[in-house]
Amino acid sequence: MKFVFIMGHAAMAGEGTKQMTGRRAGLRLAAVVGVTTAVVLGTGLAGCGNAGGTGDDGVRVVATTTMLGDVLGDLVACAGGRTTTLMPIGADPHDFAPSSADITAMVRADLVVANGLGLEEGLGDAIANAAKDGARVLEVAPELDPIPFAAAGHDPDEADHEADHEADHEATGEADQHDHADGTMDPHVWHDVARMATTARLVATELGKITHDTETFDRCGAQVAGELDGVDAKIREILRVVPAERRILITDHHAFGYFAEAYDFTVAGVVVPGGSTLAAPSSADLAELVEVIRAAAVPVIFSNTALSADLIDTVAAEVGTEATVVSLFVGSLGARDSGAETYAAMVQTNAQRIAEALTR
Ligand SMILES: [Zn+2]
Repeated sequence: MKFVFIMGHAAMAGEGTKQMTGRRAGLRLAAVVGVTTAVVLGTGLAGCGNAGGTGDDGVRVVATTTMLGDVLGDLVACAGGRTTTLMPIGADPHDFAPSSADITAMVRADLVVANGLGLEEGLGDAIANAAKDGARVLEVAPELDPIPFAAAGHDPDEADHEADHEADHEATGEADQHDHADGTMDPHVWHDVARMATTARLVATELGKITHDTETFDRCGAQVAGELDGVDAKIREILRVVPAERRILITDHHAFGYFAEAYDFTVAGVVVPGGSTLAAPSSADLAELVEVIRAAAVPVIFSNTALSADLIDTVAAEVGTEATVVSLFVGSLGARDSGAETYAAMVQTNAQRIAEALTR
């Protein structure tokens, strides 16, 4: 297995204006160079289940992210079948572009499971094309009660203004899926473990329909979801030591909205503005962020193992000697011996690091 760390964040190295869309050809190109073949994370034993009607090897599932690949790997291993994960360990899901083998895998799969809500910025066209070619695609995030991006980094007056604005929308009956950061819903659902448990159930239901073996898939879905419920309880226990006034997160980009909602934290600031890693902060953004970090009870910047540390180190240096940088697993599982080899290990390691950093 080849581990590839995509460092294609040209926008982060560049100075000056924001690049909010992140769909620049140069960024894509950097990602394409780094991408190798698909990584098979979860391989169920052929024929051990009872997945009828989908070929000798059972059902074939393709997952986009490593988190989905791990959880669905467990599900499919339980019921019989094979899971292929498109993104390599360490990839940034915003930045990943597929190979032609990945596209073939999607078209041949019985089910393609994607995160959705715009997470897979470099994969969106390929998923749409695969669907046109007959692939069955399930995007899970829209089914998981998604929330809009929180307004991190805004001052309280601005937050009030935004609340008023929301109330106006409610009064006029307008849809509320705008007016937040870049006006989209937050795709980072996997940082709430309860939502990943629901994902296991949703995919199990879908695979039950596809294989006509709802009994096996419902049982395996319930088993995997039950394990994740246990992980969720452990995370709450790990985080219990963090007092209310220290439950403030400053992160590399807007990836912890669901974590904050689920585990009672506030995201006070982000280094890269918006909901993607594919943007660059202006000097005014950075100056504001430095003030937010200085004002926090514990000046910690939670970084991202998939990103270049340069920008975050620069911000930490600007804040002063008291600021620390703590690395988290944000958009991918970790390599062997990283403490994040599985989804369950990843989220518990993150919780541990957050609890330690905020109680120092
Ligand atoms: Zn992200």
